[in-house]
Amino acid sequence: MAADTRPALPPLRDVIAAHRLQASKALGQNFLLDEQLLDRIAAIPGPLKDAPAFEVGPGPGGLTRAILRAGARLVAVERDARCLPALAELAEAFPAQLRVISGDAMQVDARAEAGDGAHIIANLPYNVGTALLVGWLSAAWEPLPWWSSLTLMFQMEVAERIVARPDSDHYGRLAVLGQWRSDARIAMKVHRSAFTPPPKVMSAVVHITPKAAPQGVQLKTLERLTAAAFGQRRKMLRQSLKGLPGALEALEAAGIDPQRRAETVSVDEYVEVARLMDRV
Ligand code: SAM
Repeated sequence: MAADTRPALPPLRDVIAAHRLQASKALGQNFLLDEQLLDRIAAIPGPLKDAPAFEVGPGPGGLTRAILRAGARLVAVERDARCLPALAELAEAFPAQLRVISGDAMQVDARAEAGDGAHIIANLPYNVGTALLVGWLSAAWEPLPWWSSLTLMFQMEVAERIVARPDSDHYGRLAVLGQWRSDARIAMKVHRSAFTPPPKVMSAVVHITPKAAPQGVQLKTLERLTAAAFGQRRKMLRQSLKGLPGALEALEAAGIDPQRRAETVSVDEYVEVARLMDRV
């Protein structure tokens, strides 16, 4: 058997105790300490050896270790300065693999910091998780976005909204944004007891991989369309799209019954309507 050359690291519980990292609710801190679970999360994007990666909120560094063990070159952004000494120890244990940025992920240019092709992997703080996701999903597709994949832990309800199919309660704008030019799936459900402290609800890791965007459709048009449609999700499209120039004509041209409601319209159908709106 080959010798294990990975650095021996102290248990995460000891790191938290040594650096007095009592979890802050305001910073959405729910830490993962089970290293086997963390290795399984870091395996979701596929092989990471020498690949660029970007992590939001490394905290005491549990997921960070797992990503580093997988061999990635990682840039991690952490807002809580208390975590920096623990992360500096990790950077030392994995020479030339980890760069930590002290700051707010909402203000950091992830592309400039992590580089094109980066895998984004994070146990996201719940208060900025959706905003960060929307930012990554709204990136320019040229013909793919700058990032290679997203592997993100969310509260279960948010995860369900990203992967939802039509005719379900969770189906809405986030599902269309998450699926019109990406494949999105729940890769792993994680019980609340896996976190320290445990959050009130269950969580899930969503894995998103980009695919070629449909031609002739602008994200802005699709967003305007889904905002209008889902803004009044119980109403017929005839009513909810009335105020959006060109939408009803595009609906008719696409052969979609205006008596249908927003939640029955598939992602492909929204894309087709948006394409026809842009053509006018
Ligand atoms: N990655 C660690 C783990 O899995 O155990 C911690 C995850 S915890 C859910 C979220 C982390 O994000 C915390 O370390 C928190 O301090 C950090 N955080 C919160 N808001 C942030 C922001 N705006 N930018 C960067 N990090 C943030």
